[in-house]
Amino acid sequence: MDLRAQVLAWLRHAAEAYGEDLPCAAMPPRRTAGRSAAPPPGAEPAPPRVRAPLTPPTPAPRRPAPAPAPTAQSASTPKPPSTPVQDLPSLPEGLDALFDLVATCKRCRLHEGRTHVVFGEGDPRARVVFVGEAPGAREDETGRPFVGAAGQLLTKIIENAMGLTRAAVYIANVNKCRPPNNRNPEPDEVAACLPYLRQQIRAIRPQVIVALGRVAAHNLLGTSLPMGQLRGRDLEYEGIPVVATWHPAYLLRQPEAKRETWEDIKRVNRLLGLPDVPPAGRATR
Ligand code: SF4
Repeated sequence: MDLRAQVLAWLRHAAEAYGEDLPCAAMPPRRTAGRSAAPPPGAEPAPPRVRAPLTPPTPAPRRPAPAPAPTAQSASTPKPPSTPVQDLPSLPEGLDALFDLVATCKRCRLHEGRTHVVFGEGDPRARVVFVGEAPGAREDETGRPFVGAAGQLLTKIIENAMGLTRAAVYIANVNKCRPPNNRNPEPDEVAACLPYLRQQIRAIRPQVIVALGRVAAHNLLGTSLPMGQLRGRDLEYEGIPVVATWHPAYLLRQPEAKRETWEDIKRVNRLLGLPDVPPAGRATR
């Protein structure tokens, strides 16, 4: 071994023993784990290391803008009846024949869930007709209008504030079948059913109509005014005076409104030529 070879061998030994890189340009490259070493002569060059492409972060999905909170106007202003009433050209004129027709009616989806059609009841020559919204659960069970808790209150109003018997008046609803879960009837359901009520009123021709609550007042009168503006006003339907007052179900929830209903019923009494306050005792008329 010549001197140069001996020196190189010594240097290599020292590097491996002490772990230091020796600044020797003549030193052959040392193998180092994890580092790319220069390929030996003739060997295929190592492929260039490619950095994994940086995937741009997926943008977080944009949340839809929250719906604007309803304003006091939009929350409280009732919509006017928007669906044109589907008038029926040839409804029977008499209440009995009309009842037979309505008993099998399937003009709107409400027929699907009904137990009974609630046509209406009372004196066919009544001087006053009370109009509500639609049957509830008890009415659907029995086929009679206003027989639940609200109906009992209506009977008290008729007897105690008017001095009339319930049999002396006529009671009906805008819709004859119960909406599911006691929701308000939809505009198309009202449009399908309203001709029946109109025909009932034409057949009875009362002196006064009492609209019980917003749904009845709006659909009978074709208005969207709030009840606060309809109460106390001179209203009419086909030449018949209409008095708008609170629905008895509302009075059960808001008993303080009974005083206003009392005032409304006094107006009804005046229109009928009855005393504002009926004489004490049982209703006999
Ligand atoms: S609610 Fe009126 S229109 Fe609808 S199915 Fe009953 S009776 Fe017919």
